[in-house]
Amino acid sequence: KPPILVPDLAARLGLKPFNIMADLIKIGVFPAPNQPLEPDIAAKICEIHGFTFEREKRDKDKGFHKEVEVIKEPEAPKQEPEDLLKTRPPIVTIMGHVDHGKTSILDYFRKSKVVSGEAGGITQHIGAYQVIHNDQEITFLDTPGHAIFSDMRARGADITDIVIIVVAANDGIMPQTLEAIKHAKKAKKTIIVAINKCDLPSSNVDRVKSQLAENGLQTTDFGGDTEFAEVSALTGKNMEDLLELIALQAEVLELKANPKATARAAVIEARVVPGRGTTATVIVESGTLKVGTPFICGPYAGKVRSLINDRGAAIKSAHPGMPVEVIGFEELPNVGDHLTEMKSEREAKSLASERQEAQRLVRLKPQHRNRMEDLYSMV
Ligand code: GDP
Ligand code: MG
Repeated sequence: KPPILVPDLAARLGLKPFNIMADLIKIGVFPAPNQPLEPDIAAKICEIHGFTFEREKRDKDKGFHKEVEVIKEPEAPKQEPEDLLKTRPPIVTIMGHVDHGKTSILDYFRKSKVVSGEAGGITQHIGAYQVIHNDQEITFLDTPGHAIFSDMRARGADITDIVIIVVAANDGIMPQTLEAIKHAKKAKKTIIVAINKCDLPSSNVDRVKSQLAENGLQTTDFGGDTEFAEVSALTGKNMEDLLELIALQAEVLELKANPKATARAAVIEARVVPGRGTTATVIVESGTLKVGTPFICGPYAGKVRSLINDRGAAIKSAHPGMPVEVIGFEELPNVGDHLTEMKSEREAKSLASERQEAQRLVRLKPQHRNRMEDLYSMV
């Protein structure tokens, strides 16, 4: 087998040789100039840059040989062909101050608006659910808005399209409301304000609107562009209007995805369910997730054994924007991890073990740094 040389590896990875040298030093390898790399070391370097390492046979016909072949997790294509894109449902997160009615709004929709019009409401709690409004699906994330929002953002899996900021009309803007506004604005989300508890005699809608304006959210009736609804999650007043606003904003956003692309989904919840094992709720971002699909998710491989929708029914496939519980994880994934379809179980497993190895190396580093700090503090 041909030797693996630093300049060759660098070229394959699209890097300069000194980048590779820096990586080698970080993992504690100090090769002499022109000294070939061991395959496992080369594999670690590839992993650092998101590649897996494989050797390939000589290609005599073309007169050259490839020393490394790279398999990468299929990435979400930056630009999908226009004709393959289909409208997908908006993904909505509800945020606001404690007790202003986040849970009540989610519960109201969950009970009153059910996909396919079944009676009884959505009983299964999988961290998200869908409602149908005028033949249009809307996906609500049903997890503590704030936590999921920052967790997912930190992991680059920010799937929310629209943020509903709930403000109780009797209470007005409170610290967590401001926090929510700040987060939503920073993330450049479409914001809709739900002024809730309008049934209460102590409610003061005008005060809420001027407080909103003071915080950069001028409502449309005050000459601004922030859409709002004056609702009551208790009586159901104007709750249809709120759905209509979501549907309209979704149309403005022109949310699209390619259902035929490589399946990719974001984990929003993960848990171990007795009798079922490790399960996670994901929101499909692109492609169609099907039973039987091998996948990689964070550092673990898996295969979709079954899919369960928000009403507890087993389904065969899930399209973009749909929340679905996936059974078939090797280990508990992290919220915000991406599940990506792989060509084969073999490829998924190989990428998984590379990632675990890289994680192991990364975990060793902080310990080392701590020790160095201890040393310095003694001086
Ligand atoms: P969360 O902390 O934002 O999730 O708020 P909850 O949904 O748990 O609501 C807090 C309290 O406000 C509960 O006692 C609800 O019954 C009550 N509540 C929620 N929405 C309304 C509403 O529209 N009108 C009235 N009067 N009470 C409401
Ligand atoms: Mg709540």
